[in-house]
Order: sequence, then structure tokens, then C-alpha cells
Amino acid sequence: MSLAEQMDTVTDDAAGTVDRHDTSQTFESTDPATGAVVGVFPVHDADAVAETVQRARAAAEAWGALGFEGRKQKLAAYRGYLARRMHELADLVHRENGKPHADAILEITLAVDHLAWAAGHARKALGPRRVNPGLIAANHAAYLEYQPLGVIGVIGPWNYPVFTPMGSIAYALAAGNAVVFKPSEHTPAIGAWLAAAWRAAVPEVADAFQVVTGFGDTGAALCRVPVDKIAFTGSAPTGKKVMATCAETLTPVLMELGGKDAMIVDDDADVVAAADAAVWGAMSNAGQTCIGIERVYATSAVYDRFVAEVTEQVRKLRPGADDEATYGPMTMASQIDVVKRHVQDAATAGARVVTGGPDADAFPGEGYVAPTVLLDVPEDSSAVKEETFGPTLTITRVRDAEEALQRANDTTYGLAGSIFSASKDKAMDLARRMRSGMTSINSVLTFASVPALPFGGVGDSGFGRIHGEDGLKEFTRAKAITRQRMPLPVNLMSFGRPEKAADALARVMGMLHGRHR
Ligand code: NAD
Repeated sequence: MSLAEQMDTVTDDAAGTVDRHDTSQTFESTDPATGAVVGVFPVHDADAVAETVQRARAAAEAWGALGFEGRKQKLAAYRGYLARRMHELADLVHRENGKPHADAILEITLAVDHLAWAAGHARKALGPRRVNPGLIAANHAAYLEYQPLGVIGVIGPWNYPVFTPMGSIAYALAAGNAVVFKPSEHTPAIGAWLAAAWRAAVPEVADAFQVVTGFGDTGAALCRVPVDKIAFTGSAPTGKKVMATCAETLTPVLMELGGKDAMIVDDDADVVAAADAAVWGAMSNAGQTCIGIERVYATSAVYDRFVAEVTEQVRKLRPGADDEATYGPMTMASQIDVVKRHVQDAATAGARVVTGGPDADAFPGEGYVAPTVLLDVPEDSSAVKEETFGPTLTITRVRDAEEALQRANDTTYGLAGSIFSASKDKAMDLARRMRSGMTSINSVLTFASVPALPFGGVGDSGFGRIHGEDGLKEFTRAKAITRQRMPLPVNLMSFGRPEKAADALARVMGMLHGRHR
């Protein structure tokens, strides 16, 4: 029996992963396209969360004791399990989140790749090493290593319900921590499936990765237990609440929050490629992508051609729940109201509507939003300022790339962005000056598929990094050790040091550093 089938029959215990604590309350997760119930899950209360974390603490010791090589083997077994069941998991993602099956396969592929990278690079990034002790401690050996924190609480969103949490889970596990994951209340079945897959693939360390399900209160309980770090991915307003709760117990936090990412299309850009990337970046996953493109600034030289190309490409898109649809329904019905408000604000402020728009047929009332392109939206409009999280794109004409950069950076967010230009040097310069954690040149979202690159934002988009060496270190504490190899004739850190030692030391420092002005 597949995991998904098991979950159909035992959804009250979420495939055996979240059932060990009696809880009277349950909630349903539903298919956003049909409203059909995907599963019924426990609402874990503070006691249930505390029990789960306690089990995770015991497991963390055994998991940590496996060392880098032992953990690498277990993580390989897990990713093998996921890779062999990609279609089963993709089907569940399609049903619970709404995205097309093919997009779910892409998402799972990226997650599996990150699992492989994190496990394969943990020793090199975190393992013990000797560092130069320097002049003053020349008689000592100096060692550095990155030790696991213990138990990491991962709180996730629904928009990339496999890839996004795995960016924390894989790196936290590879670094030697146990993980308790609280998936979004909109995608609990996927979270429970991931934990059930872990138990099935590596039953001997089953409690190293567990799931608790529920709403915000369950997430808050995970912050309060406390755990050793909270890795939160979600909206900026919820992120602030999570930080406030974690402050009660001085629990450190990693914040992966929303964005309002921009694309700059410069004079010499490949306009067709830029339009293709902008449309994918804005509309795929129904625009519910934290690093999706929501704004484009195109220079006067390319603006008309770019708009024409985007318009042509967007007309070919069709939202729906079938296999041929380009994107699915909005996962969260309430998000439609946000999208509607932004589109209406833009239209009222005089924006030109190319496709979609505020009319009823752009919001057919079945959970879908038509692809919507808005031209020359005033910069103070909510469609430009706030995260829309729908299949919408604003395109604004600018004088040149400098003006585009200035407007792209004029946001409280700073997650990612994209630059299209034929000039490598100019594009690199613009990318460096873009106020964001990540930028792709001549493509969109590519940085997320490079496991060696850190992922995270600035400003209202959060802080801390998942992925890459920085992502591994995020779930560790640096441990510094010195070992005296031989005593020196004069020990400066002793009350027994001779009186003249300080003068001698000052003379040496004067010779070494005094010539610098
Ligand atoms: P959300 O903030 O509504 O919820 C995120 C998670 O927090 C959910 O699991 C929710 O149950 C939990 N939660 C809610 N209240 C809580 C509380 N008081 N204490 C603890 N946990 C609580 O976000 P969402 O709607 O699920 O996701 C969409 C948002 O996530 C968008 O803003 C998007 O840009 C962002 N996002 C960011 C990234 C990134 O890597 N930066 C990736 C994906 C999504």
C-alpha cells in the first residue's frame, strides 16, 4: 500500500507519524480545485508538541552520534525513498496544494537534489579543522568545528510544501540535529507524508524527523517548548509573531519571509527570453512563489517589444486542474481577495490592463485567477508595494537600467530578483547593487536550484540563510578549542608573569604594527 493510500485510510493518525498523543481536535485539509477532503489531521496542542520535542531530543543524541558518514547514509536512503515515489508524492502535492503534477515533480526534484548536497557537503563545511593560532598563541593548536544545536523546529508555508521546508529540514538533519516540522494547515498531508517516508526509509532513527499538525497555535507551541532554533518560512506579519514568541525563551530564529521581486530588462536584453522568464516567474504556481517576479522595469528601448511579447505569451496560459493546465487554483481561497484588491487599486489608479484585470471573468469564482498583466501602475499602489502572491505582473517603463534598479530597490522587501542584459559586466554590477539576497541574470529563480548557493533575504524578507554552506552553518554553533602544545618561558596570562613582560610585548607590537599610518 502506498503512503498516500495509507493516509487515506488512517488520516486521523497522519500515516502513523503524528498519532502518539491523544488529541480530541482534528481538522480537514481539502483539494483547492474540488473541495474534496484530502485528509483529517490532529490539532496538536502544547502537550503533544512538548512530547514530540522530547522524543526528538532523545533521537538527536543518537542521530548526532552517527557522525557525518552515518548520517550521509541515512539521508541517502531517505532521498532514494523519495526519488522512487516521486509520482506518488507529486500526486498528493497536486491534490492538496493545487499545482500541476509536472510542477510538483520539479519541486520534489529540487528538494531531493538539496538533500544530496547537504548530506554530501556537511563534513567539509562543518567538520573539525585546525586554524592558524596566530602569533600570540603560537604555542597552542587551535581547532574549529560546527556542532549541531539539538532540536530544530521547522514551521512551513503551503506554496512549495516540499521544497521550502526541505531547505531547512535537509540542512538541519545533515548538520546533526533532529527536526520537528509543523507544516501549513493548508498542506498537512504533504508534511505528514514526508515524515512517514522518513520513518519508512530509516526506521532506526525514526524520531529524528517528526511532524506535528495544526494551526498557528501549534506553531506557537513549538516556539515555546522551547526548541534550539526555529526555522520559519511564511509571511512577514507571522514572522514577527514567531520572533516575539521565541523571544520569551531566547530561542534563535531563521526568518524566510515574503518578497516583491523585480526584473530589470535592459536596452540590450534578449526580449523574447526575458518575456518568457517574466511570465514563468510571475504566473507559475498561480504566482504563489516567494521568489516569483511581481514587478518588471523595462527600459524605453525595449518596453514596447517586451509588453507585446509578454501579452502574446500570457494569452496562451490557461489555469485549471487538469494535466494540460498551466497553473492551478489558488491554494488558499482567501488570497483571491488580496489579489483582487491589488488589481482593483491599480486599475483605479489608472493602470492599463493588458490581460485579466478587475472584472469578474478574471476571477471566475472557482478559486482561479486569470493571468493578469498591468502596465504603468503608480509606484505607490498596493500592486507595486505589497506582496500580491497571485498570477499578476506589473510592467513599468523606465529611462534606463539605473532608474530600473532604483525602483526595484524601493521596497521594504528584499528577497530576490532578475536582470536581463547582454552585457555580463553591467548585469553583474546591477546584480550586486540589487538590494536582495539572490539575483538571477538572464533567467529567473535559478539560484534556488543551485544547492551550493545560500537562500534568504534582507529587510522584510527576513534574515539567515538556508541552502549551501551558510545553510548548514545556520543549524550549528561554532565551537572553538585551543590546546597548549608547549609552555612558553613567559606566560602572559598568569599573575606570575615578570613585571617587564608588558614592556617587551608593547615593543614587539610597536615593531609589528606601529609603522602603519
Ligand atoms: P503564514 O505566515 O500565514 O504561515 C506560515 C506558517 O506559520 C504556517 O505553518 C502557520 O500555521 C504558522 N503560524 C501562523 N501563526 C503562527 C504563530 N503565531 N506562531 C507560529 N506559527 C504560526 O504564511 P503562508 O501563507 O503559509 O505562506 C505564504 C508566505 O510565505 C508568503 O509571504 C511567501 O512569500 C512566504 N514564503 C517565503 C519563502 C522564503 O523562502 N522566503 C518561501 C515560501 C513562502
